[in-house]
Amino acid sequence: MIETDKMRIVNKVKYMQDLSNKIRKDGKTISLVPTMGALHEAHLSLVTEAKRKADVCVVSIFVNPTQFGPGEDYDKYTRNLNGDLGKLKNIGADIVFTPEVDEIYHQGFQTYVEVSELEKHLCGPFRNGHFRGVATVVLKLFNIVKPHVSIFGEKDFQQLKIVQKMVRDLNLEIEILPSPIIREKHGLAMSSRNSYLSPRRKISAFGVFKALSEIKKEFDLGCKISKKIIESGRKILEQSSITDIDYMDICDPETLQSKEIAESGDLLAIAVRLGGTRLIDNIRL
Ligand code: AMP
Repeated sequence: MIETDKMRIVNKVKYMQDLSNKIRKDGKTISLVPTMGALHEAHLSLVTEAKRKADVCVVSIFVNPTQFGPGEDYDKYTRNLNGDLGKLKNIGADIVFTPEVDEIYHQGFQTYVEVSELEKHLCGPFRNGHFRGVATVVLKLFNIVKPHVSIFGEKDFQQLKIVQKMVRDLNLEIEILPSPIIREKHGLAMSSRNSYLSPRRKISAFGVFKALSEIKKEFDLGCKISKKIIESGRKILEQSSITDIDYMDICDPETLQSKEIAESGDLLAIAVRLGGTRLIDNIRL
């Protein structure tokens, strides 16, 4: 454990568990923000919210190998621990939990969590095993950090729903709080992966939010047939030179099942690939 002024940096599971036990024994509450690092403003908005919700705010930084498929960007995923620690210190995080991979996955590890139905929709079919890896690592982080509350961004809406479902199904005593999507200029949802985009591709990426906004506009003007409004979204993506579309879907925000007739409050979600960079975004109708 390292202590920099007041922020503690912990990288051992047992130490984190002992520390959390002590915090709880002292009658204090714990909030957790799980991240994979490369922190930007959106992550920091989750941390600000977490600080408001509990006495002690823990941020985990762990690039989780089990949620990356073969050929995905695990190796090239941006890692910038020193930069992240500086940002977290500035914003006033209390503890940063930043374990090595073999501290989380010991040799012979073989237990996984699957949220079987919610995994089948949206990103699930395009990222085999991704949500199994997410649910497993989040449950492990919950067992290590022992938070009373944990904050997840609505940008990864399916992840948020899967974690909420896991908590309910497995009777975990943790409150899962959603945090709104933070966007940069032209509405592009902030993401650690935006840094992979060339300047030209970044301009194309603005088309993602443009398509979402136009679909919402059509819905508000009275068109409720999902297929029809999604088709006009596709045209906007094409105008922005986005042709590699994993999905664009209007679905029930709880079950994530596609809907033929869109209703107010439904989730409009999108995933596209821009020269190897996968971007996701969503809005509510
Ligand atoms: P990541 O490090 O990308 O796994 O993200 C860690 C947390 O930050 C997750 O709960 C994400 O949903 C959340 N997050 C990332 N980007 C955004 C964003 N633009 N707006 C809101 N939450 C976000």
